Amino acid sequence: MRNIFRRSSAFTVALLAVGLVAAGPAAAGHDRPSPGAPGIGDRLFPTLGNGGYDARHYTLSLRYPTADRVQTVVGVLTMEAKATKSLSRFNLDFDGDAVSAVQVDGRTASYAIQDEELVITPRSPLRDGKRFTTTVNYTSGPYLYTPDPNPNNPMGLLPFGWFTTQDGSVTAAQPDLGHTIYPVNDHTADKATYSFVIDVPEGTTAAANGVLTSRRTSNGRTVWRYEMRQPMASQLIQLAVGQLDIIDRGRFRGTQMRDVVATSIADDPPVQAGLSHTDEHMEYMESFVGRYPFDVYGILAADELFAYALETQTLSLHPGFVVDESQFPPEAAQPVLVHELAHQWFGDDLAIAEWSDLWLSEGHATWYEGHYAEDVFDISWEDRMHDAYEEANQLRADFGPVARPSGSDFLTLFSNNVYDGGGLVLYALYNRVGERTFYEIERTWAQRYSGESVSTWQFILHAAKVSRDLGVIPFLARWVYGDTVPPMPGHPDWVSPPATDAPAAATARSSAARDLELAKY
Ligand SMILES: [Zn+2]
Repeated sequence: MRNIFRRSSAFTVALLAVGLVAAGPAAAGHDRPSPGAPGIGDRLFPTLGNGGYDARHYTLSLRYPTADRVQTVVGVLTMEAKATKSLSRFNLDFDGDAVSAVQVDGRTASYAIQDEELVITPRSPLRDGKRFTTTVNYTSGPYLYTPDPNPNNPMGLLPFGWFTTQDGSVTAAQPDLGHTIYPVNDHTADKATYSFVIDVPEGTTAAANGVLTSRRTSNGRTVWRYEMRQPMASQLIQLAVGQLDIIDRGRFRGTQMRDVVATSIADDPPVQAGLSHTDEHMEYMESFVGRYPFDVYGILAADELFAYALETQTLSLHPGFVVDESQFPPEAAQPVLVHELAHQWFGDDLAIAEWSDLWLSEGHATWYEGHYAEDVFDISWEDRMHDAYEEANQLRADFGPVARPSGSDFLTLFSNNVYDGGGLVLYALYNRVGERTFYEIERTWAQRYSGESVSTWQFILHAAKVSRDLGVIPFLARWVYGDTVPPMPGHPDWVSPPATDAPAAATARSSAARDLELAKY
């Protein structure tokens, strides 16, 4: 399809006007130091993140004293940040065990823990624009996770935060548990680069986001160092420690490929078969959206039963059975693997600006998951979207508009409204602008906003600009913010019944269990 609209000055002016409104008035400058806000301003998580500074780099040093699964890990967190106003004090988010010392620019600072806020008062105020370094000595650690496959307890297979596997521990911080693992400005709007220094007993493997830069053993201890050189949101941290094999798979078009697999399952042929498709998945994704954004990619296959997969940056977390082709058939497993790979662009490299924008992450991941399922396994995407359309009014009644979830509890925020419902928004856009323009929107979106945190409005304006179709602005706004689902372009026969008060069948399918399609298998 060719673009049918010529770029007009009226179009450009309209976009500029909307952009100005979206940006809002510039904050008035204040030289007088005052406390940083205890929240970054998220509608769904008012105390998540903090105001008054921009975190630039974290160095997280962790000492695991033993090889036990459950233990108290001794941490030193160093945050390099820049003040965005003059600060008399500022907060980090923290909900680990204890803090023993805080320094700001090398000088002891006073601190207090109030609920999940670590309130830090430096010796002297930090002026607007100042770069400063904060060091926190603390302890936290993994909790013992015991799978509960009881269908009456939907959370029994959904461990979150820092939890044990059969032979070690992993992390799954989405959406608001990063600060149970380390003190951090725990919001996806404030990305930063990371250095990891993980000190474990000799014979224990440590893996984290990014590239392994060194591994040194002495006196019965091994120190593993990783660098995450591209910015990362706190919710995407991965710390995998235990009996793990790091499997080097060479390079794919310049990207280092490596998996991290529980030693207990690494030699199983069905597991090796399940892990053998990543190059194909990478080629598939790059054909749509361009170059993979990070230095390294691979799958973390944990020896534990949990019912989701998570897009931890550069190292997607999966339960071992997903990559075991004797347990989970390829037509179910591989779309999940593609889903988490797609997140590396959508949700990771382009993090979301606030949690109401979750559909931007899950909708795109669902799009590529579903298209891979269709292209490789002949599972109809249009049928899936037809089903999603039928349940759309009920989902919006139960969980709010797609880009305005009605709550932050897990089952509401991660309902199918943002998965297939988010994919449905993209399907509507696809039907309006045509395939060629749609993928031009996708590719330029991923390239233009690489490394940033992006909002729903930015996507709407971007889609309008690339399609040269101003009508896309009200069109998409209605799709993401409407209480009811609009007509689907190209499918005038599609109907979504009005919502009822009865619990939706879809509700049972809510949650990140969608990522695994457990309902089917
Ligand atoms: Zn996802």
